[in-house]
Amino acid sequence: MASWRVARSLDQLLAQINAAAPNRSKVSDGSIGDTAHASRVSDHNPDSRGIVHARDYTHDPANGCDIDAIFAGIVASGDRRVSYLIRSRRITQWQGGRLVWTPYDGTNPHDAHGHVSVTAAGEDDTRPWQIGPSSSTPATDQTEEDEMARIMRATERADALQDGPLFLGLNPEESKNLQASGLKLVWITAGTWDALAAGKASGQTARA
Ligand SMILES: [Zn+2]
Repeated sequence: MASWRVARSLDQLLAQINAAAPNRSKVSDGSIGDTAHASRVSDHNPDSRGIVHARDYTHDPANGCDIDAIFAGIVASGDRRVSYLIRSRRITQWQGGRLVWTPYDGTNPHDAHGHVSVTAAGEDDTRPWQIGPSSSTPATDQTEEDEMARIMRATERADALQDGPLFLGLNPEESKNLQASGLKLVWITAGTWDALAAGKASGQTARA
Protein backbone atom coordinates (compact mmCIF):
# COMPACT_ATOMS: atom_id res chain seq x y z
CA MET A 1 0.00 0.00 0.00
CA ALA A 2 1.14 3.50 -0.71
CA SER A 3 2.42 5.42 2.30
CA TRP A 4 -0.23 6.71 4.67
CA ARG A 5 -0.49 8.32 8.06
CA VAL A 6 -3.18 9.11 10.62
CA ALA A 7 -4.41 12.67 11.13
CA ARG A 8 -2.18 14.20 13.83
CA SER A 9 -5.16 15.44 15.84
CA LEU A 10 -6.15 11.80 16.37
CA ASP A 11 -2.60 10.89 17.40
CA GLN A 12 -2.82 13.73 19.93
CA LEU A 13 -6.04 12.25 21.31
CA LEU A 14 -4.39 8.81 21.44
CA ALA A 15 -1.42 10.22 23.36
CA GLN A 16 -3.74 11.89 25.88
CA ILE A 17 -5.78 8.71 26.39
CA ASN A 18 -2.63 6.61 26.78
CA ALA A 19 -1.21 9.08 29.29
CA ALA A 20 -4.45 9.12 31.29
CA ALA A 21 -4.83 5.32 31.24
CA PRO A 22 -1.39 3.76 30.76
CA ASN A 23 -2.62 0.23 31.52
CA ARG A 24 -5.68 0.33 29.30
CA SER A 25 -6.53 -2.43 26.85
CA LYS A 26 -5.88 -1.61 23.19
CA VAL A 27 -7.61 -4.66 21.79
CA SER A 28 -10.19 -2.64 19.84
CA ASP A 29 -7.87 0.22 18.92
CA GLY A 30 -7.42 0.87 15.24
CA SER A 31 -6.59 3.44 12.63
CA ILE A 32 -6.23 2.32 9.01
CA GLY A 33 -9.05 0.16 7.72
CA ASP A 34 -8.94 -3.57 7.17
CA THR A 35 -9.99 -5.15 3.87
CA ALA A 36 -13.65 -4.88 4.88
CA HIS A 37 -13.27 -1.12 5.32
CA ALA A 38 -11.25 -0.78 2.11
CA SER A 39 -14.18 -2.01 0.03
CA ARG A 40 -16.45 0.79 1.19
CA VAL A 41 -16.32 4.46 2.02
CA SER A 42 -14.77 4.88 5.47
CA ASP A 43 -12.69 7.47 7.26
CA HIS A 44 -10.42 4.54 8.14
CA ASN A 45 -9.27 4.49 4.52
CA PRO A 46 -6.54 6.94 3.49
CA ASP A 47 -7.85 9.84 1.43
CA SER A 48 -6.26 10.91 -1.87
CA ARG A 49 -3.40 12.48 0.12
CA GLY A 50 -2.79 9.31 2.13
CA ILE A 51 -4.32 10.64 5.34
CA VAL A 52 -6.56 8.51 7.58
CA HIS A 53 -9.25 10.55 9.34
CA ALA A 54 -10.49 8.05 11.92
CA ARG A 55 -9.26 6.22 14.98
CA ASP A 56 -10.96 3.67 17.22
CA TYR A 57 -10.27 3.75 20.96
CA THR A 58 -10.94 0.70 23.15
CA HIS A 59 -13.52 1.10 25.95
CA ASP A 60 -11.78 -0.18 29.10
CA PRO A 61 -13.26 1.63 32.10
CA ALA A 62 -11.74 -0.89 34.54
CA ASN A 63 -8.33 0.42 33.53
CA GLY A 64 -9.21 4.08 33.45
CA CYS A 65 -10.32 4.45 29.84
CA ASP A 66 -14.04 5.23 29.93
CA ILE A 67 -14.88 6.13 26.34
CA ASP A 68 -18.29 7.48 27.40
CA ALA A 69 -16.64 9.95 29.78
CA ILE A 70 -14.04 10.88 27.18
CA PHE A 71 -16.68 11.43 24.50
CA ALA A 72 -18.81 13.43 26.95
CA GLY A 73 -15.85 15.79 27.32
CA ILE A 74 -15.39 16.07 23.57
CA VAL A 75 -19.11 16.71 23.04
CA ALA A 76 -19.23 19.27 25.86
CA SER A 77 -16.28 21.15 24.40
CA GLY A 78 -17.92 21.23 20.95
CA ASP A 79 -14.55 20.48 19.39
CA ARG A 80 -14.73 21.60 15.79
CA ARG A 81 -12.11 19.06 14.74
CA VAL A 82 -14.78 16.37 15.10
CA SER A 83 -16.50 15.15 11.99
CA TYR A 84 -18.46 12.60 14.01
CA LEU A 85 -18.21 10.21 16.96
CA ILE A 86 -19.76 6.73 17.09
CA ARG A 87 -20.41 4.90 20.34
CA SER A 88 -22.98 2.34 21.58
CA ARG A 89 -25.39 2.58 18.62
CA ARG A 90 -25.24 6.36 18.58
CA ILE A 91 -23.54 8.77 16.19
CA THR A 92 -23.08 12.49 16.62
CA GLN A 93 -24.36 15.10 14.23
CA TRP A 94 -23.60 18.80 14.22
CA GLN A 95 -26.83 20.64 15.02
CA GLY A 96 -26.83 24.38 15.68
CA GLY A 97 -23.12 24.42 16.44
CA ARG A 98 -23.35 21.54 18.92
CA LEU A 99 -22.54 17.86 18.74
CA VAL A 100 -25.78 15.93 19.26
CA TRP A 101 -26.15 12.17 19.64
CA THR A 102 -28.52 10.44 17.22
CA PRO A 103 -29.30 6.73 16.69
CA TYR A 104 -26.79 4.69 14.70
CA ASP A 105 -27.75 1.40 13.08
CA GLY A 106 -24.48 0.39 11.44
CA THR A 107 -23.48 -3.26 11.54
CA ASN A 108 -20.93 -2.64 14.30
CA PRO A 109 -22.69 -1.20 17.37
CA HIS A 110 -19.41 0.21 18.72
CA ASP A 111 -19.93 -1.30 22.16
CA ALA A 112 -16.29 -2.29 22.63
CA HIS A 113 -14.78 0.95 21.36
CA GLY A 114 -15.48 4.51 20.37
CA HIS A 115 -14.87 5.88 16.89
CA VAL A 116 -13.61 9.39 16.22
CA SER A 117 -13.59 10.94 12.76
CA VAL A 118 -11.99 14.31 12.20
CA THR A 119 -12.49 16.84 9.45
CA ALA A 120 -9.85 17.58 6.83
CA ALA A 121 -9.67 21.14 8.18
CA GLY A 122 -8.91 19.91 11.68
CA GLU A 123 -6.84 16.86 10.81
CA ASP A 124 -3.45 18.14 11.98
CA ASP A 125 -4.60 20.52 14.72
CA THR A 126 -2.75 19.04 17.71
CA ARG A 127 -4.22 21.18 20.48
CA PRO A 128 -5.13 19.08 23.55
CA TRP A 129 -8.61 17.54 23.54
CA GLN A 130 -11.05 17.85 26.42
CA ILE A 131 -11.31 14.17 27.39
CA GLY A 132 -13.39 14.49 30.54
CA PRO A 133 -15.16 17.05 32.67
CA SER A 134 -13.82 20.57 32.24
CA SER A 135 -10.47 20.85 34.04
CA SER A 136 -11.66 23.79 36.13
CA THR A 137 -14.00 21.73 38.29
CA PRO A 138 -17.07 23.89 38.80
CA ALA A 139 -19.06 23.82 42.03
CA THR A 140 -22.20 21.73 41.85
CA ASP A 141 -24.58 24.69 41.69
CA GLN A 142 -22.45 26.13 38.89
CA THR A 143 -22.98 22.91 36.95
CA GLU A 144 -26.70 23.11 37.59
CA GLU A 145 -26.68 26.74 36.53
CA ASP A 146 -24.95 25.80 33.28
CA GLU A 147 -27.47 23.04 32.73
CA MET A 148 -30.37 25.43 33.34
CA ALA A 149 -28.82 27.94 30.95
CA ARG A 150 -28.61 25.25 28.31
CA ILE A 151 -32.22 24.26 28.90
CA MET A 152 -33.32 27.89 28.64
CA ARG A 153 -31.42 28.37 25.40
CA ALA A 154 -32.99 25.22 23.98
CA THR A 155 -36.41 26.37 25.14
CA GLU A 156 -35.96 29.72 23.45
CA ARG A 157 -34.91 27.95 20.30
CA ALA A 158 -38.01 25.76 20.45
CA ASP A 159 -40.19 28.84 20.93
CA ALA A 160 -38.47 30.59 18.05
CA LEU A 161 -39.21 27.66 15.80
CA GLN A 162 -42.91 27.74 16.72
CA ASP A 163 -43.59 24.71 14.65
CA GLY A 164 -44.25 22.16 17.29
CA PRO A 165 -42.29 20.13 19.73
CA LEU A 166 -38.54 19.97 19.63
CA PHE A 167 -36.88 16.94 21.04
CA LEU A 168 -33.13 16.99 21.15
CA GLY A 169 -31.06 13.87 21.24
CA LEU A 170 -33.96 11.44 21.08
CA ASN A 171 -34.77 8.81 18.52
CA PRO A 172 -37.99 9.26 16.50
CA GLU A 173 -39.94 6.67 18.51
CA GLU A 174 -39.11 8.34 21.83
CA SER A 175 -39.85 11.75 20.36
CA LYS A 176 -43.29 10.57 19.29
CA ASN A 177 -44.09 9.16 22.71
CA LEU A 178 -43.01 12.32 24.47
CA GLN A 179 -44.85 14.49 21.97
CA ALA A 180 -48.00 12.48 22.71
CA SER A 181 -47.49 13.13 26.41
CA GLY A 182 -47.74 16.90 25.79
CA LEU A 183 -44.16 17.88 26.44
CA LYS A 184 -42.96 20.63 24.19
CA LEU A 185 -39.27 20.23 24.73
CA VAL A 186 -36.93 17.69 26.16
CA TRP A 187 -33.26 18.31 26.58
CA ILE A 188 -31.01 15.38 27.23
CA THR A 189 -27.29 15.82 27.71
CA ALA A 190 -24.88 13.28 26.30
CA GLY A 191 -24.09 12.17 29.84
CA THR A 192 -27.65 11.32 30.74
CA TRP A 193 -28.29 9.37 27.56
CA ASP A 194 -26.75 6.14 28.82
CA ALA A 195 -28.44 6.51 32.19
CA LEU A 196 -31.75 6.97 30.37
CA ALA A 197 -31.13 3.96 28.20
CA ALA A 198 -30.42 1.96 31.34
CA GLY A 199 -33.63 3.31 32.90
CA LYS A 200 -31.77 5.09 35.69
CA ALA A 201 -32.67 8.67 34.91
CA SER A 202 -35.59 10.65 33.60
CA GLY A 203 -33.39 13.23 31.92
CA GLN A 204 -33.79 16.98 32.03
CA THR A 205 -37.18 18.09 30.92
CA ALA A 206 -38.77 21.47 30.60
CA ARG A 207 -42.34 22.41 29.85
CA ALA A 208 -42.42 25.48 27.66
ZN1 LIG B 1 -13.92 3.20 13.56
